[in-house]
Amino acid sequence: MSHTLLQYLDNNTPVSFAQITDIITNEMGTALILDQTIFYPQGGGQPSDQGFIKNIRSQDLFNVTSVRFMEGAVYHYGTFMGNKFFIDDHVELTIDSKLRKVNSQNHTAGHIIDIAIRSLDLPMVPNKGYHFPEGPYVEYQQTQSDPFNATEHLEYIQRQVNNILSTPTPVSCMNISYNELVQVSGYIPTNLPADKPTRVMKINGYPAIPCGGTHVDNTRDITNIIVKKISKKSGMWRVSYQVL
Ligand SMILES: [Zn+2]
Repeated sequence: MSHTLLQYLDNNTPVSFAQITDIITNEMGTALILDQTIFYPQGGGQPSDQGFIKNIRSQDLFNVTSVRFMEGAVYHYGTFMGNKFFIDDHVELTIDSKLRKVNSQNHTAGHIIDIAIRSLDLPMVPNKGYHFPEGPYVEYQQTQSDPFNATEHLEYIQRQVNNILSTPTPVSCMNISYNELVQVSGYIPTNLPADKPTRVMKINGYPAIPCGGTHVDNTRDITNIIVKKISKKSGMWRVSYQVL
């Protein structure tokens, strides 16, 4: 299977062009595979983009409902709205900008809460984030005995989050070497390859974080974040939030 160039890593453009390299059908449905894409495939706790792929030759549309990444290729699952497409057809891609914005807000909010939690300097390591609009949360594994005082720390995290959001701050992404990452990041995931550049996201003034997701360009694109609950589930500390 040919590899797909991931254009969404470099910009947030809602429209782009590509060429079909393969069309497959499996248990998830029919998928178009392209040489490059602006569609974000589900992963890292962030839902996939949705939108349309238009055939430039015939003007027919393919409605993209779900996007997945597998072995270097991005699979755009959906349905043909008219005639079928063929390999080598040139296509125009349009993502649902409103959905992308909501997903980017929820994802970036997870980073902002993470920054607030790190400033507590508790004996915990990040486990995962879930940034779907329904009930987003960030989750941590404690490395020593009970680190969280739920009530007190919830108020603290909320204050820190409000403080971060009170000043509009640029959010950027870049590729850096492993050595640079060790110098600038507060946390290095253990499964990160040391021989490849790593994509990091950075909110100006805060440590860079390894991440492959999409983010808002500036913290002012998030009006407010409500820290809803700190709970413990299966030995993991979960901080639930809501983006307004
Ligand atoms: Zn991210």
